[in-house]
Amino acid sequence: MSALMIETEQFSYAVHYSSRRRSVALQVKQGQLTVRAPLGYSLAEIKALVLQKQQWVLKHLQRVKLQTKPQWLAEQQLPLLGTTLALTRQRGEKSAVLYSKDNLTIIVSSRVQPQRYQKVLLTLLQKWYQQQAFSWFTQRVLYWQNKMNVRSGNILIGSWRTKWGYCKSTSELGFNWRLMMAPEWVADYVVVHELAHLKHLNHSARFWQLVHEYYPQAEDAKAWLRHNQHLLEL
Ligand SMILES: [Zn+2]
Repeated sequence: MSALMIETEQFSYAVHYSSRRRSVALQVKQGQLTVRAPLGYSLAEIKALVLQKQQWVLKHLQRVKLQTKPQWLAEQQLPLLGTTLALTRQRGEKSAVLYSKDNLTIIVSSRVQPQRYQKVLLTLLQKWYQQQAFSWFTQRVLYWQNKMNVRSGNILIGSWRTKWGYCKSTSELGFNWRLMMAPEWVADYVVVHELAHLKHLNHSARFWQLVHEYYPQAEDAKAWLRHNQHLLEL
């Protein structure tokens, strides 16, 4: 029994013919669609059926995607505000992170035992992202607060699982370092969102009105975060 691979604009799938089947079945497993069909079914019929079921297929493919961890390290690249950095790993005397233009070199000290290597590497990377986040968010807060005529307090960078940022009644603002892995226009939305809380410490209609006034792409950014948050992980 051999499989035929079919490409559509949004996904590819394998078609298996079997003499024992009486009807066509579509199955999504591990992010891959497989179509099982009885002998005698034409490819045109199968393609038409898949097209008809496209919404169902996309929904199931998306669900798997959201559960899948990204493979940044395995693919030797890292996202930074909409750009992609090539990642190089080295062993050296001292652990360090070297960043130049589109390259990030992670040096893990040769004194680090192999069983601790991965943990040290991840800690170095996260620290680097946190430093990037601190300088980027500090600049963006300055830029937006002048436009919005508000004044922020301290800026903190955090590593929360459930929030992108916060604003306290003391005017302290917090931002999640993982936003450094999102495009700039998405991270900027979170800046405007938190600054808007300096005027409205709630999610009232007036709060959202203020956010949209300064950031018309707010809804797109929220949707982007909903659909891509699984990618903002090391
Ligand atoms: Zn909020």
